[in-house]
Amino acid sequence: MALAEKVNTVENFMNGLKDRNPNQPEFHQAVEEIVETLMPYYEANPVYEKHKILQRLTEPDRVISFRVTWEDDKGEVQVNRGYRIQFNNSIGPYKGGLRFHPSVNESVLKFLAFEQIFKNSLTTLPLGGGKGGSDFDPKGKSDREVMRFCQSFISELYKHVGANTDVPAGDIGVGGREIGYMFGQIKRLTGEFTGVLTGKGMAFGGSNIRPEATGYGCVYFMREMLAANGESLKGKRAIISGSGNVAQFTAEKLLEFGASVHTMSDSSGTIYDADGIDSEKLAFIMELKNIKRGRIIEYTKQYPNAQFLKGENPWSIPCDVAFPSATQNEIDASDAASLLKNGCIAVAEGANMPSNLDAVRRFREAGILYGPSKAANAGGVAVSGLEMSQNSMRLKWTRKETDDKLQEIMKEIHAQCAEYGRIDNGVADYVKGANIAGFVKVADAMLGFGLH
Ligand code: GLU
Repeated sequence: MALAEKVNTVENFMNGLKDRNPNQPEFHQAVEEIVETLMPYYEANPVYEKHKILQRLTEPDRVISFRVTWEDDKGEVQVNRGYRIQFNNSIGPYKGGLRFHPSVNESVLKFLAFEQIFKNSLTTLPLGGGKGGSDFDPKGKSDREVMRFCQSFISELYKHVGANTDVPAGDIGVGGREIGYMFGQIKRLTGEFTGVLTGKGMAFGGSNIRPEATGYGCVYFMREMLAANGESLKGKRAIISGSGNVAQFTAEKLLEFGASVHTMSDSSGTIYDADGIDSEKLAFIMELKNIKRGRIIEYTKQYPNAQFLKGENPWSIPCDVAFPSATQNEIDASDAASLLKNGCIAVAEGANMPSNLDAVRRFREAGILYGPSKAANAGGVAVSGLEMSQNSMRLKWTRKETDDKLQEIMKEIHAQCAEYGRIDNGVADYVKGANIAGFVKVADAMLGFGLH
């Protein structure tokens, strides 16, 4: 494998990466977004290229792939594929979620694991980057089917993870229920109670604020971006995509900060509530999604003033601030254009890589406050890091202690991005800032280790 061509232009580098990793468009996209803004800094500091840091950093330490066999409620045998990408452990144990969704493949998980390296570095905590999951679709499955799948999945994966080596957590399709089943199975197989997973239930080593952390953190990051420009969230009109964990707690914190929330969505479409989704309506959505596991259209039956935009995303609805919190590539160039045209002044990404490359370029050209996912949604993994600390110390911090630490971390992430992304006489380029700040710590650790 020709890893060593000279990195002198973004195009050169990307051509080599694409040759080595064919048919992995999401991975190409995540790398290109980083390399595009990192390259001037990389070239200005030749020690990195001398040690081929970028070529080494874009090649995962290892990719683990395995068969998951399980039995459905009809007694039929089902087969899925499981993965864990251990991308980089230079600054701490591999850390990153597990995603259960039919779209999961090696490209999607490599993009997520690669992003996680930089995100985790930005948190200020000692966390490496990894990601895993399966093409298993939890939608429409019974609790017992989900349990049998989780037990089978982790019966293979447990050999590769551990509190000091690799610590998975949740992501799309993996929440408290799934983490509980997997943690129980690891404990049963190893006979040990360790902090091998995060996002655990409160009764067995979970951290306060972990379920809320990604959404709350994203709103804290937005608050920092606005404050740096003399603005606040009070009275702002917000739109949110998604209606899962991230979207729900983004909405909760926005309401607390005096913003109004007008949209949420799922894969079937968007609900638009001109009157605003208040806390009572949000409680309805939480019960609908978390307990009944129903579809978002039910909201319009309960609240007939709201509209259902079938098959549409929320980006055509006028807003001041936007929170894409569903999935990757949910905002393309025309969505970005309609957000800008309608007066959106700030975007904070709760999902991973929700804006495609053209959309990112539009936001940056327009000079709006654009908080990329690796910075804006790092609160989730940050509180996972705090869960690991609490497990190691065998103690538990209060809600307030944990939330205070989360707010400090989001402030610090914003400060790092603003420092490396500073532009004269303008708002910070948070994409550039996040990419360089995330890179420096990992790259310097790699230099320190010598060649491997
Ligand atoms: N899946 C989340 C993320 O994208 C959280 C990962 C974790 O807590 O390890 O960052």
